[in-house]
Amino acid sequence: MFPQRRMRRSRSRNIQPLLCEFTVSKNDLVAPLFVDEKITAPRPIESMPGQFRHPVGGIGAVAKALWERGVRAVLIFGIPGAKDPHASGAWCADGVVQQAVRLIRADVNEMTVITDVCACEYTDHGHCGIVGDTRNGPDLLNDPSLELMNRIAVSHAESGADIVAPSCMLDGMVGSIRSALDNAGFEHVLIMSYSTKFASALYGPFREAAGSGFTFGDRTTYQLPCSNSREAFLESQMDADEGADILMVKPAGFYLDILSRVATLGLPVAAFQVSGEYAMIKAAAEHGWIKERETVLESLISIKRAGADLIITYFAGDVAGWLDEKQ
Ligand SMILES: [Zn+2]
Repeated sequence: MFPQRRMRRSRSRNIQPLLCEFTVSKNDLVAPLFVDEKITAPRPIESMPGQFRHPVGGIGAVAKALWERGVRAVLIFGIPGAKDPHASGAWCADGVVQQAVRLIRADVNEMTVITDVCACEYTDHGHCGIVGDTRNGPDLLNDPSLELMNRIAVSHAESGADIVAPSCMLDGMVGSIRSALDNAGFEHVLIMSYSTKFASALYGPFREAAGSGFTFGDRTTYQLPCSNSREAFLESQMDADEGADILMVKPAGFYLDILSRVATLGLPVAAFQVSGEYAMIKAAAEHGWIKERETVLESLISIKRAGADLIITYFAGDVAGWLDEKQ
């Protein structure tokens, strides 16, 4: 007890760095990228200052610039030229993501390429798979959508993805995709499951970015309610049992308690710092109300402290640059 125990003794400027428990390194960062089949020049995303939709032809150079800054992994989201009820643009061999993966492979082969496996950017109704009538009206149908996810995942693997990341929160999606990948000879391709994904208001800017708003209903019949912690843990546990290689909690910052529980499952855990988290920090910083760099680094350290091994963040490129400046 005081005065023998003085906590401030460990906080002197020379001692503090020696006792640091958590840091963020470039190896922790995954940069999400939007690839748009309909554009020929990068287009800024209004609600996400500093982020762009990239044309397919330019994506190799974007990945290369990130690689040169030290970012070692990208997560690809595609915006197709056309949408239909069956999401055929999501699994065709020359789909926007498939083209992007091949181009990144050609330009910077060392980059770890992760692809988002879902249908919501490709369906004309904007839901994450096949929809049909239920007693509560039209809704996402679970089992018919699994086959669609299998096709998407295998086509991404065929184009060279290292990791496929199913994000649709369908029951059984991980086991189903694992079997499909193995049957197609892609047993080396990892599955990073969006295993605990909440129906969050923080996805708003992403929907502008990816054009994935929906024409009816919402996603609360497949994504998690923010009120439920046990259910959130069970979702990740089941995906672990189905063979996920990496689990994920999304969003990150409002769900650090969940992240810390999911980390106890023993598998690597990714945290997705989502578009709304990015937009909030950007907007407050633009007003001069908070300091951007300090806030971003604090947010990422918090996510690491809670148990994340990887952080998917729109700040990845900036953070990699800042880490260089610190050294
Ligand atoms: Zn989706």
